[in-house]
Amino acid sequence: MFARTARRQLQSSTGLSCIARSFSSTAPVRTDFTHVIIGGGVVGLAIARSLASYHATHNPNTTSSTLLLERHPHLGTETSSRNSEVIHGGLYYPPDSLKTRLCIAGREQLYDLCNKYSIPHRKTGKWIVAQDAAQLESLERIHETCKSTLGVPTRFLTKTEARNAEPDVRAEAGVLESPETGIVDSHALMTALRGLFEDAGGTVAVNSSVTSITPLPTSPSSLPGSSGYVLTVQDTTTGEPSRITASTVINSAGLHACTIHNLLAPAARHITPFYAKGNYFAYTSPRPRVSRLIYPVVTPGSGGLGTHLTLDLASRIRFGPDVEWVADPTSLSVTASRLPAAVAEIRKYLPGIEVDALAPDYAGIRPKLRRAGAEGKGKDGFVDFYVRREDGFEGWVNLLGIESPGLTSSLAIGGLVREMLVGSKSGRGVDEAPAL
Ligand SMILES: Cc1cc2nc3c(=O)[nH]c(=O)nc-3n(C[C@H](O)[C@H](O)[C@H](O)COP(=O)(O)OP(=O)(O)OC[C@H]3O[C@@H](n4cnc5c(N)ncnc54)[C@H](O)[C@@H]3O)c2cc1C
Repeated sequence: MFARTARRQLQSSTGLSCIARSFSSTAPVRTDFTHVIIGGGVVGLAIARSLASYHATHNPNTTSSTLLLERHPHLGTETSSRNSEVIHGGLYYPPDSLKTRLCIAGREQLYDLCNKYSIPHRKTGKWIVAQDAAQLESLERIHETCKSTLGVPTRFLTKTEARNAEPDVRAEAGVLESPETGIVDSHALMTALRGLFEDAGGTVAVNSSVTSITPLPTSPSSLPGSSGYVLTVQDTTTGEPSRITASTVINSAGLHACTIHNLLAPAARHITPFYAKGNYFAYTSPRPRVSRLIYPVVTPGSGGLGTHLTLDLASRIRFGPDVEWVADPTSLSVTASRLPAAVAEIRKYLPGIEVDALAPDYAGIRPKLRRAGAEGKGKDGFVDFYVRREDGFEGWVNLLGIESPGLTSSLAIGGLVREMLVGSKSGRGVDEAPAL
């Protein structure tokens, strides 16, 4: 497919070659594309759309071009379509972390985009339920940080309010509500982002797997990448390799981002990824009926937010994801062997669950940079999103460990990467708020 899309465009238009980016200190060099984004999940799409719309709005007469490379036949078939589809409030992570800042900014941008382009979504609200004094204390800390530092709305419900609203939900010690939390149709979101990207002049190439990246030769005094990069892209339908050049390279390859990183980084900076699979279970009984998202209090160091109750846009209940550390990022089957542990967790907040109505559903895999927890600091270790212009290189932006809340944060990540590559917060594209 690469041969039929990007290469055709390259061959038919000499104008697509562009002068290497303005921040290069070396003499300008012609490259095939200004920006190449590796990975067509929701984050790669949001970055691609942000860059293309910036250029379409601010430099309409230049030859800037943005190419999105995806190795599968369709966009968004890995983690971006294997998650809870929750628009998170931004409650859990250290206040100054990228996870918090991008989640809060991304959530607002996502609701705006959904409203503007009629992307199916619903602000369901979410409860975090505490069963004992220690869990309640942990909710009080979250509430206090949300109020004093983050400006994220949360409130404690009275026992009567909770009982009236969700009679089947057990919350012995307290309920903290996040009214800004919601759900989104992630497929519709990605379809909309693709449309906006292509409308802004961007090119999508599917069946296009990046197999090598090398900085183009440059003067000894310049950083690698100053003249751009050469990428080998394999057409996954024919096996045929193509060679393209780009002024900037954005690694947004999700579960395989460390592999891409290791293609470019010197051996001493190579990274070994970890994978935390999350298994989901479908629920087919009409009872108990619950009308908002229900989360347990996070167990520090668990690697996830706890086996929670989520709803899809048709109000179907599903439970998950649990945490199963796996060695293989393609290990996506869900077996009934995970059910007993999930049932034990679910019963703590939904005692009336009908076990026979639960069935293994789908799984997604979290790309982890360490075997560490999902929230907080301390010895269990909080690991932030890694979104950086890579040290010692020009024009290489690297995104690693983009686990939850990556879907919620995607638009803000797009804005951040655009700022890293082409300019200031004020120079944003159509329909876009600043990243942070
Ligand atoms: C179980 C689970 C639940 C989650 N729940 C939520 C949630 O409710 N809310 C939320 O905000 N976030 C959630 N997340 C996180 C969210 O799903 C991810 O952060 C987000 O989807 C990451 O998007 P991405 O584009 O970075 O990665 P991906 O969707 O994995 O996309 C990366 C793409 O890169 C492509 N690629 C890889 N290597 C190459 C190559 N060499 N050449 C070309 N293409 C390549 C892949 O094929 C893939 O399509 C959850 C994650 C998991 C695992």
